[in-house]
Parts: sequence; C-alpha cells; structure tokens
Amino acid sequence: MKYDAIIVGASFAGLALATRLRGKILLIDKKEIGTGQTSACGTLLSVPQELGGRDSVLQVYQRGFIHTRRRTIEYHLPYPFCAFDYAQFCRSLARRSRADFLKARVLGLEDGQVVTDRGKFQATCLIDASGWRAVLASSIESGFVDFSTMSFGIGTTVAYQGEGLHFWMDPSLIGRGVGWLFPCGTKARVGVGSYVGDTGLRKVLSSFLSGFGLRLGKVHGGFFPWRLRRPVVGKIFVVGDAAGQCEPLTGEGIRPAIYFGLKCAEAVQQVIDGKASLEEGLRHYQREVRRYQRYYSFLEWFQRSLSRLPHWQQTRLLAFFSRPSISQFLLHWYRKHAALESVLKGETP
Ligand SMILES: Cc1cc2nc3c(=O)[nH]c(=O)nc-3n(C[C@H](O)[C@H](O)[C@H](O)COP(=O)(O)OP(=O)(O)OC[C@H]3O[C@@H](n4cnc5c(N)ncnc54)[C@H](O)[C@@H]3O)c2cc1C
Repeated sequence: MKYDAIIVGASFAGLALATRLRGKILLIDKKEIGTGQTSACGTLLSVPQELGGRDSVLQVYQRGFIHTRRRTIEYHLPYPFCAFDYAQFCRSLARRSRADFLKARVLGLEDGQVVTDRGKFQATCLIDASGWRAVLASSIESGFVDFSTMSFGIGTTVAYQGEGLHFWMDPSLIGRGVGWLFPCGTKARVGVGSYVGDTGLRKVLSSFLSGFGLRLGKVHGGFFPWRLRRPVVGKIFVVGDAAGQCEPLTGEGIRPAIYFGLKCAEAVQQVIDGKASLEEGLRHYQREVRRYQRYYSFLEWFQRSLSRLPHWQQTRLLAFFSRPSISQFLLHWYRKHAALESVLKGETP
C-alpha cells in the first residue's frame, strides 16, 4: 500500500505532525506511544495548553533558580513553565491524529521505501522524526549524525517536594554542563547534562543526588543536538532532534520539535492536497527552518562562550541577567522563537 506520508518517530515532532496531517498517513515507532521518555519534560506552560494537553501538567513554575558554587540566582518567569507527564501528553496528541500507527523498528531507506522489521512501506512524503539518530536521513547520508555536535544527559525521578525550576552551573558538580531539578508534585525529575557529550554521567548524577540525601533510581536519557542539521536530506523532511532543532544552551527540545513539526505539516499537507509538488514542499519547509539559522548560531555561540568562562565570571553574568528588566526582555525574546500560538494560528512570528 502506498501512503501519502510516512512519519518515523511518534514522540514530540512526529505526533505534532500526525495531529495536523490529513490523508493516508502511517506513523511508525519502535515503542508504544508514550513509553519512550528520554526528557525531563519541562517546558513553557503554553505548550501543553495550546495543544490540548493541560491535563498532563504536573506542576507549574513562576520562578527559576540557577545555583552556582557560591550563590543562588533567582529569576522571575513572566511566562510560566511546567513539567508534564510524557505518556499522558503523547497519548492526548495521538488521540487527535487520524494516522495509522505501526509499532516497528525502522532500519532505513532503500529504493525510496521505508524498511522496517515488519516489512517495507512507501509514501509520497517521508518524514524523519526519529530523534538524534535520524534513522532515515542517516541511512542515505553517512556522517549526518555528528557526535561532536551533541550534548548528553541523563535523568531520574525521585521522591521530593519543592517549588521552582532549578539549574546548577557549578564546576564542582559538572564541568561544561548543567544539573537540574524539576519538582513534580510529590516527586522531582533530577538530571545532569554535558555540553561536550560526556556519556559517563551516572556517578555525577549519583553524587548530585546524595547531596539531597537521595539515591539513584531508574535512569533515562540520551544525546540532544546543539547544532542545526539540514532539514531536508534527499527527498526526506527531517524534523525535531533528527534535524538538530533542540535549542543550544537551554537544551529545550520539546517546543522546537513541536513547532517545526507543525511547520513541516503545513508543507507536507500542500503536497498531499496537490497544491505543491514534493520538491516545492521540501523547499518551502527548508526555507522555514533556515530563517532560524542565525538564532541557533547565536545560542550555540553563547553556550560555548558561557561554558568556557571562569566560574566567577559565569556567576556575575548570570546575576546580571537576573535583573527584572533584563530577564523579562531575554525571556520574551527567547519565547517568541518557536512560539506555538503563531504556527497554530498560521501566523509568521
Ligand atoms: C536527559 C534529557 C532531558 C531533557 N529534558 C528536556 C526538558 O526538560 N525540556 C525540553 O524541552 N527538552 C528536554 N530534552 C530534549 C528533548 O528530550 C528532545 O529535544 C525531544 O525529545 C526531541 O523530540 P523529537 O520528537 O524530535 O525526538 P524524540 O523525543 O527523541 O523521539 C524520537 C522517537 O523516534 C523513535 N525512534 C527512534 N529510532 C527509531 C527507529 N529505528 N524505528 C522506529 N522508531 C524510532 C523513538 O522511539 C522516539 O519515540 C532533554 C533531553 C535529555 C536527553
């Protein structure tokens, strides 16, 4: 059977696409929907709100804290953030999609067909939303996944109660990386991430937790890119972490995966409806992503520069940014990139 579109990956990017596309759509993931959480699932409250996933919200944050070696810097958040339940959020998106779902491992692309451990499938539009591994794109272009342009992080869930979003930028915890703690009701998501892709973080997380009198439980995590990759490879639309759309510095990847997923859906739907050729659809999506190149390059530069500064200078800079007028300006600027309400209303931000 030939589909109008095949989406590989049923997480944030893939599900966002699936909610928007109309036609014969096949959504493939190696796991059941909502069972493959890698993330701490912290994002702007407006994300689950805009997408009808308000019930998945576990806790809302009006304040953020960055802990450095000697002090704690507080930020008032003009736009509230939240942590949400991954399974519930993904399932609520899946319920709004009319795509057929297939649980299968995708092995790559061969003669224009998607090869899986459950057979081969064809479609007019192929979308790679398979996360940092980019299984489709990397099967036709070796070297597409560059480990030197990815951070690595792990996290766990522990019993804990508290307020606010907490980050640690403290070389005694991790050099060139961050720690985080997001309270979620009676639990908290705690993790550590390395900007230089260090994968040996279990001990770091364990000693971080022991500082709170807590012990390491089940760990999840993986790589997350900090450099934009090409959004079109051959005739494949590439979205989310597969296209390096996770934001450098903050490691926020959920909102951009959904945002670019929705943008990609606009281009793919034009092709399905016969209003654009496949080539035009690919070019349109590529143009949309390229408009963000400077923004990503700036965040990448900032991540590199900040993580290399001596710790006392990092602390001074972070404290300077916490001044109300500056933090409000920065958060407003940050939020307006990948603002979901703009794409949901079909506006150009
Ligand atoms: C430890 C950690 C914590 C993080 N915390 C946050 C956070 O709090 N907030 C935030 O905004 N971002 C966070 N991120 C980043 C965020 O998780 C990613 O940017 C986001 O998940 C990208 O979404 P995606 O849909 O592109 O890919 P993914 O969420 O990675 O989904 C890819 C999907 O493809 C499927 N797949 C992969 N390979 C195959 C295959 N061969 N065949 C079939 N299916 C396949 C997977 O099962 C998965 O469902 C974190 C990342 C890590 C590692």
